[in-house]
Amino acid sequence: GAERTKNVLILMSDTGGGHRASAEAIRNAFQIEFGDEYRIFVKDVWKEYTGWPLNDLERSYKFMVKHVQLWKVAFHSTYPRWIHSFYLAAIAAYYAKEVEAGLMEYKPDIIISVHPLMQHIPLWVLKWQGLQKKVIFVTVITDLNSCHPTWFHPGVNRCYCPSQEVAKRALLDGLEESQIRVFGLPIRPSFARAVLSKDQLREELEMDPDLPAVLLMGGGEGMGPVKKTALALGESLFDKELGKPIGQLIIVCGRNKALASTLATEQWKIPVKVRGFETQMEKWMGACDCIITKAGPGTIAEALIRGLPIILNDYIPGQEKGNVPYVVDNGAGVFTRSPKETARIVTEWFSTNRDELKIMSENALKLAQPEAVFNIVKDIHELACQRGPLANIPYMLTSSFTTLI
Ligand code: UDP
Repeated sequence: GAERTKNVLILMSDTGGGHRASAEAIRNAFQIEFGDEYRIFVKDVWKEYTGWPLNDLERSYKFMVKHVQLWKVAFHSTYPRWIHSFYLAAIAAYYAKEVEAGLMEYKPDIIISVHPLMQHIPLWVLKWQGLQKKVIFVTVITDLNSCHPTWFHPGVNRCYCPSQEVAKRALLDGLEESQIRVFGLPIRPSFARAVLSKDQLREELEMDPDLPAVLLMGGGEGMGPVKKTALALGESLFDKELGKPIGQLIIVCGRNKALASTLATEQWKIPVKVRGFETQMEKWMGACDCIITKAGPGTIAEALIRGLPIILNDYIPGQEKGNVPYVVDNGAGVFTRSPKETARIVTEWFSTNRDELKIMSENALKLAQPEAVFNIVKDIHELACQRGPLANIPYMLTSSFTTLI
């Protein structure tokens, strides 16, 4: 008989732009590959159903990341399993009913976590409900290299690792080989399936058609030394002898409105565009020749797909540190915190050192994994098929002992 639509619940949190971007990538890939077979919900269950500190991860994270030392302490002090297990268990016990209600509202057949703090508690809830064998639970890790061990939980059906390095850590942390798959970081399908040429994109985005272009950004929140770098580029990309620009600059400030407004009032000698949060990053990347960014995994993976050489100018301590050697050792970019040095490198790439730009672009394309998100959803689909026709899952709310379906 006709199979009913299966519900997929994707658990994310808006700590940075990357988790949401990955969640949306997975949702879009499900729709492209399987159409109506799956109904997808992307939810920040913590925010919607629990109290402090879980409903406030976004603000705590922004606060800690701004005060980098705090984030370092938080990241490393929760590293040992006994500490974070204990902490998460305490929170789980406290918010059990709320999380349970939050999860069960969507009657998921499949739960996908794209967040390091969304393994333990949902898996406990499934256990309490006696649903571990019925509901498929998978983790999609969104850090390229040095990820926090809360990502790894032996109770998952699959743990999708973006790199061999992360897979090694998963094995060391007790996951079985059979649970681990390495396909790459899931990136929005619009990146993998982009069709427009650079010329068309530049016309559409009203950029200069001929000048080489550098894209400057700092993740979803517009972090890192964006302003100083922009000012340095504004000087160095202007050839004083010839009295004309040798390059153009695109600055994407993300949700950092203060940054966008101060940059918008600057006087520039070269063509500059200052943008806020852009929903079509694949177009801006497709129209540029290189990128400057903090070491966010999402931005890096996207830039690699577009073949953009990368200048990394910052990283969030802990989870982003390992992204630096990932890019640099593979010859797809360089790392420097100095805005002056950054401006010098870009200026050389656009004038005397075009060869290096070209070689790094080729290396970037070699690292790119545009099919990762499709391989992930196909593998999840296979898991779902192996379960056979899913019997209606008997979701119960233990708080009220009411059968929901
Ligand atoms: N991004 C976007 N529009 C913007 C700025 C960023 O869509 O204006 C996306 C970017 O393409 C990437 C994500 O936000 O997919 C940023 O993720 P990353 O892992 O690089 O850094 P995070 O913001 O999570 O620290």
